[in-house]
Amino acid sequence: MSGIRLGLVGIGKIARDQHVPALVASGRFELAATASREGSVDGVPRFTDIAKMIAAAGGELEAVSICTPPDGRFDQAVAAIDAGLHVMLEKPPCTTVSEIASLSRRARDRGVSLFATWHSREAAGVEPARNWLAGKEIRGARIVWKEDIRRWHPGQSWILGRGGFGVFDPAINALSIATLLLSDELALRSAWMEVPFGCAAPLRARLQMCLGSAPVNAEFDFLKEGAQIWDLVVETSEGTLTLSEGGRILELYDGTKIAGADREYSRLYDRFAELIASGCSDVDIRPLQLVADAFLVANVESGARFAF
Ligand code: NAP
Repeated sequence: MSGIRLGLVGIGKIARDQHVPALVASGRFELAATASREGSVDGVPRFTDIAKMIAAAGGELEAVSICTPPDGRFDQAVAAIDAGLHVMLEKPPCTTVSEIASLSRRARDRGVSLFATWHSREAAGVEPARNWLAGKEIRGARIVWKEDIRRWHPGQSWILGRGGFGVFDPAINALSIATLLLSDELALRSAWMEVPFGCAAPLRARLQMCLGSAPVNAEFDFLKEGAQIWDLVVETSEGTLTLSEGGRILELYDGTKIAGADREYSRLYDRFAELIASGCSDVDIRPLQLVADAFLVANVESGARFAF
């Protein structure tokens, strides 16, 4: 086994479902250590936190990939950057815009690569959608992202706590695609959220955004039972583009359809390896900025108490 020696931090659902298989399949990384209070990966040296991992194995590591919940990730990333390690962050990269800006500066000063990932941008339909939209006049867009928190995040109480993002945990995936496909002019105008009693983050939200004079509206719901919806529809002067299943399927007004296999995390690790090789970072804060803006302007309603 050879490749960039990487420590994986936070062995939970996404680490097990996606990161470990992508790392095992990658010829460019070697999973050399894990840091997690309870979780571990068979056959890989384990430590209960990142400080212990760096103290014991830091000299042998070149990079870390951080998959813990967003609250607390800033301190973990600082520890890794200060130890001279390249850092890949799950989405959302941090809990605040100023945290990720600070990490960016720190990584640049230390000469390491920082990669703030947006896995949904790697879905099969997103790049073709971006190519098709290039140069077209956008007349409006709507996002409908509705999933069942109990089905996809069972028992993850952190998600409704401080810095947990609530429904914006999945919704930021939609915003990561929207900020890539639409222009930098995408601006938040108003928002509404419903926060369950006793929680810090919303279960439902609606955003009104604009692209110049074109409306871009989004509806997010974390209590959707039955069929799940992860759709983004863009109206252009030359017809409608629909991305569904979180960006996996692209359909155009004329019946053209592009669908591909899920290679999101393989693509993320390929990109991380390229960033390390070229001495670059990739940190796009726009999706996080829109969420932060929503928290600034939202009309907030209190909803019923929630239990998993
Ligand atoms: P998770 O299942 O709760 O796993 C996170 C792991 O981080 C936990 O198992 C825990 O392992 C560790 N951890 C460290 N500090 C923690 C704390 N204060 N509270 C809770 N756990 C803590 O969460 P996840 O679904 O993997 O999500 C992690 C990140 O990945 C989130 O930012 C999420 O947005 C992103 N993500 C998730 C998915 C998904 O489908 N679940 C998809 C894409 C991205 P120990 O107990 O061993 O320390």
